[in-house]
Amino acid sequence: MSEILVLVEHVDGDVKKVTLELLTLARSLGTPAAVWAGPGYSDAAKAKLAEHGADKIYVADAEEIIGYVVAPKAELLAKLVADKAPAGVLIAATAEGKEVAGRLAVKTDSGVITDAVGLGEGFVADQSIFGGGVNVRSRVTKGTPIVAVRPNSIAPVAAAGAGAEEKVEVALSDAARAARIVERVKQEKGARPELTEAAIVVSGGRGVGSGDNFAIIEKLADSLGAAVGASRAATDAGWYPHQFQVGQTGKTVSPQLYIASGISGAIQHRAGMQTSKTIVVINKDAEAPIFEIADYGVVGDLFQVVPQLTDEIEKR
Ligand code: FAD
Repeated sequence: MSEILVLVEHVDGDVKKVTLELLTLARSLGTPAAVWAGPGYSDAAKAKLAEHGADKIYVADAEEIIGYVVAPKAELLAKLVADKAPAGVLIAATAEGKEVAGRLAVKTDSGVITDAVGLGEGFVADQSIFGGGVNVRSRVTKGTPIVAVRPNSIAPVAAAGAGAEEKVEVALSDAARAARIVERVKQEKGARPELTEAAIVVSGGRGVGSGDNFAIIEKLADSLGAAVGASRAATDAGWYPHQFQVGQTGKTVSPQLYIASGISGAIQHRAGMQTSKTIVVINKDAEAPIFEIADYGVVGDLFQVVPQLTDEIEKR
């Protein structure tokens, strides 16, 4: 079976969950081959990739790969596409992943699909487009299919792969060195899961009323082991940091459970969350448009409903 390249997402040497999802998906399409870009590769990383079915691991761990903005990863993948002729390439549909996918498509003269939420035989993708308003089924018809898949689209399942390593050297072009990273600033990593990877997201909007009131959203999130999200109205008001904004100009999330409190459901907010598997809405206005996409809805005051919900969950 042909190889399916999977670009590994990693932070501080830790393989991110979305990579395990992509490896699981790759197993249904061919033979998964993980591509490690940048420093931090270790036996633990190798074990995790192999446990999730990586038959091959291409390791390009030169510091230089992460020293420049995005382009080196696209050049690395383009080299592997030329050398190994894989059946396809899977990349996480994160902000960086989508940019790598686009650049790779140009370099390899291939088609690219972004924001896939499913992928089946023949690389036919279910794709969420127009800000999540429309789902289409699409397939790349030119070159090597490159598909950027949204985190949380499928559940990662372990299945041992050989994990055979192969070192890859890549001679970066001058173009790849055009924008050098001068500093990386680590974001505070709290106890909560990362927003785009979390299985549960609890979000608050303008209805929350103030930054201090976000404590009740956080309390509910913590009772569920969830990440906290916010609408743009809440982040623009300075009630919650912008990095937690969900929506068209924020993060795209696709968790198992999304709880929206005091959020009306503007199209730009929906664009970032409507592929969530189960959506629970708490809003005092029964006519709020977000109820149209809710699986469960509570018409009520969030200042009563959210603490009661938190209490019930904490009792269990
Ligand atoms: P509102 O629309 O004001 O809704 C507040 C809701 O809270 C109401 O439904 C109200 O009934 C309810 N409420 C009030 N008090 C309570 C209470 N005590 N209990 C229960 N419910 C209560 N928005 C995003 O979220 N993400 C984006 O990425 C984004 N990108 C944008 C990009 C562009 C180009 C533009 C033009 C807009 C964008 N927006 C985005 C803004 C978007 O259009 C909406 O303005 C925003 O989502 C509204 O946020 P909200 O639902 O919190 O506020």
